[in-house]
Amino acid sequence: MAIIASNFKTNHTRKTTSYFVEEVNKYLVSNNVSSDVYIFPTSTSLDKFETIPTLNIGVQNAYATQKGSFTGEIGTEQLDEFDVNTILIGHSERRHILGESQEEIAKKFAFYSELGYKIIYCVGEPLEVKEEGLEKTLEYIYSQFEGIDINYENLILAYEPIWAIGTGVTATLEDITDVHSALKSKIEKPLLYGGSVKVDNVRDICSLHGVDGALIGTASWIIEDFIQILENTKDL
Ligand code: PEP
Repeated sequence: MAIIASNFKTNHTRKTTSYFVEEVNKYLVSNNVSSDVYIFPTSTSLDKFETIPTLNIGVQNAYATQKGSFTGEIGTEQLDEFDVNTILIGHSERRHILGESQEEIAKKFAFYSELGYKIIYCVGEPLEVKEEGLEKTLEYIYSQFEGIDINYENLILAYEPIWAIGTGVTATLEDITDVHSALKSKIEKPLLYGGSVKVDNVRDICSLHGVDGALIGTASWIIEDFIQILENTKDL
């Protein structure tokens, strides 16, 4: 079954998030769709959502702590309040805009894996590395596994080339296949593709050998589009 994840980034409010989750849940129930669906709202929009077990609400980020003095961050005390046990780690926007180092990311991974969280772990190369070819691209991606337990049982991976995130430029099916088959031969975990996945290309991408689903930002924020994405992948 396809795994389809929506990353809200810094979009939607409490009200629109709650409507979105409700609509997705309704769609999955009434159409008997058994895809594994993840929604990552902003942390201010977390709530006790009533969803079927295959619809999971996770967080885009949290600090490696239960509680404490980490201004602007949240920890497991806040996540527990909403029964959240799914987290995105290593997203390129956190690595490159928010400046998270591989060391900090590995520390976060260790903390949340110790607690049994489902982790969607993101890797991906910048354009200048992609332009150096597949070997350099893989080398760069493998360096993003430093300090990461790739055998962790609740791990889902996401390959998200940075040059394809939020740009409208999707990697070609060939690019995706090359990287996914290399990663799959080393790490036996579900592997999502992310980077300008849209209603029109999600099926082709998710049908590729070595692609277990998609992590989607921009194209997932409009409820009708996200439902269409689920519809286009429901039998994969
Ligand atoms: C993402 O945020 O993980 C992502 C893939 O974004 P977009 O779909 O907008 O490229």
